[in-house]
Amino acid sequence: MTTIAPLVYDELVRNDREGFTIAEDDEYFYDALPYAFNWRLVMTPKADPRVWDYGWCYDGSASLILAMRVWNPETQNEPLGWKKRPTGRTARIAPRAGTEPKYNRPRCVHGHYPADGPCSTDPYCGIHDR
Ligand SMILES: [Zn+2]
Repeated sequence: MTTIAPLVYDELVRNDREGFTIAEDDEYFYDALPYAFNWRLVMTPKADPRVWDYGWCYDGSASLILAMRVWNPETQNEPLGWKKRPTGRTARIAPRAGTEPKYNRPRCVHGHYPADGPCSTDPYCGIHDR
């Protein structure tokens, strides 16, 4: 099996989906959507660009772009450095997640690893999950 890393652009490229594209692979556009108080990195399926399958919120476009540059979506479930997963507890699972088990431990909606201790963003985070 060949791993094809996404092609990451040098800069954000405006698209016709009310945002920008920062990368793409065979299956997805990796879009950057500006909101009032944050930016969201979303995976937009090329087969149906009207929706997005997964998303992560960042403080700004710079941290989003950095995260995209170091992320291998083939083996790493989610990128680094986000502050909120807008889809809640539904985390993405990478096609070959098993090859990087340390990276792919469960994370809360704020991107922290519950196994490492309480969430530093919200003391009540995950309290209803048990
Ligand atoms: Zn949390």
